[in-house]
Amino acid sequence: MGLMRVLPFAKHLLSEHVTDGSVAIDMTAGNGHDTLFLAERVGSGHVYAFDVQEAAVKATTDRITAANLLDRVSVVHDSHDTVKAVVADETRPITAAVFNLGYLPGSDKSITTTGNTTIDALEQLLDVMAVGGVVVVVIYHGHESGKVERDEVLTYVESLDQKRAGVLRYGFVNQINHPPFIVAIEKRA
Ligand code: SAM
Repeated sequence: MGLMRVLPFAKHLLSEHVTDGSVAIDMTAGNGHDTLFLAERVGSGHVYAFDVQEAAVKATTDRITAANLLDRVSVVHDSHDTVKAVVADETRPITAAVFNLGYLPGSDKSITTTGNTTIDALEQLLDVMAVGGVVVVVIYHGHESGKVERDEVLTYVESLDQKRAGVLRYGFVNQINHPPFIVAIEKRA
């Protein structure tokens, strides 16, 4: 088998952690591709999908509606650093979450994720997720603010106590044009 590409590997990690009855969170819904991927896999569980952009909330809602899966998805028009409050009453195990950092291709490039908010949201996830759950962060660093966010997120995850979380980095290191890479965080305690 050839080396798995970065985005298929992100999906592989998510699908390994999402099971019937579990809760999954799309922290950056955008056009809703990952939200749909998760919704197709949670069965009797639930997906929460966050985005700060009205257009993204609409695109995601439309995509999930077209797949007839809206009964298992909550699209939240708010920043992902509200995640802890949003899932406060959730009793099912939260086993997977995904971030695609940066801006939504084809839309306003000034609406981008930022290191501080991303790190705050990661901290909240580590509090509320089930032990064994995984957070997949796809880091896009081709643009200037993406490089800043990359460095902030890497500094944060490198500082996590290994007893609390295992952190994996996956990406090609000899590819041109700053291809995205993955940071995956497994909650251990
Ligand atoms: N996974 C998406 C898809 O399949 O289309 C692409 C996501 S795009 C790279 C990043 C998204 O994060 C944008 O839609 C942007 O509006 C959103 N975003 C930026 N800051 C955010 C925040 N603080 N909370 C939630 N979403 C945010």
